[in-house]
Amino acid sequence: MSWAERAFGAVQSKLPLTVSQGITAAYFKAQTAYKVGSRGTHSASQSISLLPAMKFKILPALTDNYMYLLVDDATKEAAIVDPVAPETVMDAVQAEGVSLTTFLTTHHHWDHAGGNKKMAELAQGLRVLGGDDRIDALTQKVGHGDELTLGSLAIKCLFTPCHTTGHICYYVTSGENTPAVFTGDTLFLGGCGRFFEGTADQMHKALVETLGVLPDETKVFCGHEYSLQNLKYGRHVEPKNEVVQAKIAWCEEKRALNPPEPTVPSTIGEEKQINPFMRVNEPTVQTHAGKDTPIETMAALRAEKDNFKAPK
Ligand SMILES: [Zn+2]
Repeated sequence: MSWAERAFGAVQSKLPLTVSQGITAAYFKAQTAYKVGSRGTHSASQSISLLPAMKFKILPALTDNYMYLLVDDATKEAAIVDPVAPETVMDAVQAEGVSLTTFLTTHHHWDHAGGNKKMAELAQGLRVLGGDDRIDALTQKVGHGDELTLGSLAIKCLFTPCHTTGHICYYVTSGENTPAVFTGDTLFLGGCGRFFEGTADQMHKALVETLGVLPDETKVFCGHEYSLQNLKYGRHVEPKNEVVQAKIAWCEEKRALNPPEPTVPSTIGEEKQINPFMRVNEPTVQTHAGKDTPIETMAALRAEKDNFKAPK
């Protein structure tokens, strides 16, 4: 019996019959949908290995969200980032033959933390990390610089408030391996999250001083497939930026496949070349914004992007 079946069976046996039947129906419906392929999801699921130690599985959810299964290859211990679709996660855990011990929650918004409660019921005894008391099923509140391990992997919590006051990014390293960072709705490929609960000053700190100082080769796994809309805004800000234009062409190819392929991950080094919100110190970007400080530029870009309609 698989881990998922055991976990599911344990929960099922404690429930009244009618509830149990409802859950069974929902679980198998989801499982069937997953097995027939990627039809009905916004992107294909994809596996990425940063050998020898780290493996990632990109799991699409909802209309444009990404969940990520992070696996330490040596011990097969796994963490899941923002498990909003529990059935998809359980299926991936089963298919990969890994032992899920940890949820890494980036922030409290429903499309990221909305699956925590059900997930915690299906897979009891796991640690649920996050930086905000509004996150469901939280067992360990974390702050800036907190560190934990996942098998042989080291995970460092980076506090990046602005999109929400308790937003955390998770930075993963393992010896000489290429590092990776899960950035939720703080840093997207080519863009950043809206400033729902914070200021331009905070987003500048998050993007330039916290994420921007990670090694350039760090792989960036973000919370949504927003890359093309973001890059088209980037082209509007810097029409002569050829790296942006090349990345648009590359993303268009990926998204034209059937099913479309994810455009994640990017790297920190790449974001510094294509993401206007990480380029607020550049004269070209400041000139576009009509401002002469990075923080005023950040505020002006966000205001403009909030109303920007990307051309086809
Ligand atoms: Zn959000």
